[in-house]
Amino acid sequence: MHSIQQQLDNLQAKIDQAVERSGRNPQAVTLLAVSKTRTAQEIRAVAAWGLRNFGENYLQEALPKMAHLADMGLVWHFIGALQSNKTRDICQHFHWLHTLDRIKVAKRLSAQRLELHPRSPLNVCIQINIDREPQKAGIPPEQLPDFLEEVIGLKGIKLRGLMAIPKPVVDPHHRRQTFRALSDLFEQVIPMAGSDWDTLSMGMSADFVEAILEGATLIRLGTAIFGPRPSQARQSPCADVH
Ligand SMILES: *Cc1c(COP(=O)(O)O)cnc(C)c1O
Repeated sequence: MHSIQQQLDNLQAKIDQAVERSGRNPQAVTLLAVSKTRTAQEIRAVAAWGLRNFGENYLQEALPKMAHLADMGLVWHFIGALQSNKTRDICQHFHWLHTLDRIKVAKRLSAQRLELHPRSPLNVCIQINIDREPQKAGIPPEQLPDFLEEVIGLKGIKLRGLMAIPKPVVDPHHRRQTFRALSDLFEQVIPMAGSDWDTLSMGMSADFVEAILEGATLIRLGTAIFGPRPSQARQSPCADVH
């Protein structure tokens, strides 16, 4: 059986290889460990290997673990479906939010962050519904410029880039096309997005190689780091709706 250290060494080698193929340097891609359903102990083991960025989907589950791990100085990303009555907790406890898709929520997040952490804006990625799936969170790609215009001046949030959860498909060529569409969209709005625009959050355990080849700067991996989740089907991000 492989230890978690060996598993992570192998994974990092795979990531490095893809980053090299994409013509960038190894620092260009951040590995975000998706720790939903994992215990504080499991997170500690992964942090000991050297990972610093962790992603959580459910506040009720995340907050006690985060309190347990407060001594570790980890960077916490909220990557779950965003409910408007939970923005305050996110502002208080998280460094990043990957799932912004409503202007009203952006305004509330900004105001609450300014109140709770006046000196450090919340890092935010806008979620794009890249495959235009009717039940999926995220804004349709063509609405991004108008959306940006509405949120660009908000002082409590720092607009870092885009995030998407593409429809799972088997064909790697198809996957790359979808990631490329997100990457193109990211570049298209650079002139209006401001100087903090530097993050393309795409790629999960099943498709991170294609995501890296198309320019991902942050990949979100759960299974590839920790192994299969209990009741993986129920937890599938593809079922995310609001
Ligand atoms: C669960 C989840 C992941 C990680 O999924 P794996 O397939 O386990 O790598 C990534 N992003 C989001 C938004 C998730 O909900």
